[in-house]
Amino acid sequence: MVQALVLEKKGELALRDIDLPLEVGPDDVKIAIHTVGVCGSDVHYYTHGAIGSFVVREPMVLGHEAAGTVVAVGSQVKSLAVGDRVCMEPGVPNMNSRATKLGIYNVDPDVRFWATPPVHGVLTPEVVHPAAFTYKIPDNVSFAEGAMVEPFAVGLQAATRARITPGDVAVVIGCGPIGIMTALAALAGGCARVYISDLSAPKLAIAGQYPGIHPVNITQQPLAEVISRETDGWGADVIFEASGSPRAYDGLFDLMRPGGTLVLVGLPVERVNFDVPASIIKEARIETVFRYANNFDRAVNLIASGKVDLKPLISGTFDFAESIAAFDRAAKGLPDDVKLQIRLRD
Ligand SMILES: [Zn+2]
Repeated sequence: MVQALVLEKKGELALRDIDLPLEVGPDDVKIAIHTVGVCGSDVHYYTHGAIGSFVVREPMVLGHEAAGTVVAVGSQVKSLAVGDRVCMEPGVPNMNSRATKLGIYNVDPDVRFWATPPVHGVLTPEVVHPAAFTYKIPDNVSFAEGAMVEPFAVGLQAATRARITPGDVAVVIGCGPIGIMTALAALAGGCARVYISDLSAPKLAIAGQYPGIHPVNITQQPLAEVISRETDGWGADVIFEASGSPRAYDGLFDLMRPGGTLVLVGLPVERVNFDVPASIIKEARIETVFRYANNFDRAVNLIASGKVDLKPLISGTFDFAESIAAFDRAAKGLPDDVKLQIRLRD
């Protein structure tokens, strides 16, 4: 038995002992978990008991944004050694699947993703994971930053999908953690400037600390007006929808230049009104993002290089013993909180 933060059922968390498999297979490593980020999806399972068709039917360990230290390696593992500091990609596909062979392992129907029912997450002192989905972090990247690689990889997937040309102007709708990660990834990918919109002034102020990110408070001015003014009436090259709000789809194409790109990152909980004629008249290219593939190493590289600093986005750190308090705070959705983290050891 090991200790873990267990979601017993909707609305009920317990820090308790649970049986988790810890045998190290030939291609696996065992990791002593250091830091785990609290994700919106973890909180949603806590408060709602389900995300879409994924329903919590039995107790499940939460947490999927993690960094730690390798403490054991399988007999076939050559890429990692005991003592390596690492972060882990939480989704493990079937290595023989058609999607995996195509390099799009994130959309493999058989993918097993931490803290997505029925798969346990990693808010527990040790986990076993395939070495192929475990990435070294250099000494100048902290465990806290290592645990930010997972959400940042979503931003990089969005920037990759956008196929940014250097000097592009981008708009990010939604200033939550993923919106900010997307804006930072768009800048790292070559955008000259990024406008980020939201209703929440505190969230916008956090994003606005970064050079190149321009906050737009849509309670004060219509986003389309700002973008038109700032682009001499031409429109932005890339629009990232990162709010998941159905309202974001109203007038979406007014933001875009002719021949621009729309990248859908935010996952609406229901169907939305999508203006097909407006998209055709602009001959928009439309891309979608589901998690990430082949972006963890790139995320680590950008953080290690100093080009992307995610530290200002860490709003609070809790000890493992205070995990439930961390989730209760995250569930409040305080406007100043971007990312809360849980530390399992010093
Ligand atoms: Zn996450």
